[in-house]
Amino acid sequence: MRYGGNTTCVEIRHGADIIILDGGTGLRELGLALTAEFKKSPLNLTLLISHTHWDHIQGLPFFAPIYNSRCRLRICGCEGARNSLVTALTGQMESTYFPVPFSKLPSNIEIEELRDFNFAIGSVLVRAKRANHPGVTVGYRLLTPDGLICFFPDTEPRPGGDRDMMEFIRDADVLILDSQYDRAEYRKHTGWGHGCVDDSVDLALKAGVKKLVLFHHDPCHGDKKIDAFLRHARALVKKQRGKLKVEAAREGMIIQLGGELDSGEPCRRLSAMGPARPKIPSCHPDIS
Ligand SMILES: [Zn+2]
Ligand SMILES: [Zn+2]
Repeated sequence: MRYGGNTTCVEIRHGADIIILDGGTGLRELGLALTAEFKKSPLNLTLLISHTHWDHIQGLPFFAPIYNSRCRLRICGCEGARNSLVTALTGQMESTYFPVPFSKLPSNIEIEELRDFNFAIGSVLVRAKRANHPGVTVGYRLLTPDGLICFFPDTEPRPGGDRDMMEFIRDADVLILDSQYDRAEYRKHTGWGHGCVDDSVDLALKAGVKKLVLFHHDPCHGDKKIDAFLRHARALVKKQRGKLKVEAAREGMIIQLGGELDSGEPCRRLSAMGPARPKIPSCHPDIS
């Protein structure tokens, strides 16, 4: 109820550059917010996909900007576990699953499979790295003029420490990291490709990260459980006399880098919209 139940979707902004990390069900809310903000102005967006598991792509058919002819959307990611990225993304819009085929969308969408794991999106330098998760999965490192953000929504730290990973995320201002389980749960789910809070804190401390955001909450965990994860993570940092700040991801949370606001406050833009949101039917988008 407090942390939210949508699946992975994070928006990164620097100046006019808008980068979206993953297209889980949270993408629907973001699409409504972008539509309300940009109205009839052109919209240029880049969507980086970590992998094609459903909880990371399922929001795409419900993303209002894809029904807007003024929207240009570039989608980048690796190939799906069995099929190309194009097949994985467009397949979920075939008539068995969805009323509007991808080919009929009025927006301008390009889908690119990553060959080069090192590229720029406007002022943001992006690197991708394979994660330890079933199928073909990557995480991203985004160097913005205001700070470094690392995003690994689905990964399981390798036993005995992961030096490669530690170097990749070193000195990040914000690390958004899979912390689905506590230690006891993790013992029952080792090898599933998700992490535990203790390992996340350990990795973030060793890599000199400034803020860790516990991410990819288990659908069976309620607010109280996530509160307990957060208390536990902060206690671990205190015990090590670390300076690491820890937050648990929640819907609408904003973190501002290079500015005064760094509060992790809920996003007023989303919560203030209320009933004024544009009406986009959730299962029959109007493309006329
Ligand atoms: Zn996954
Ligand atoms: Zn996932």
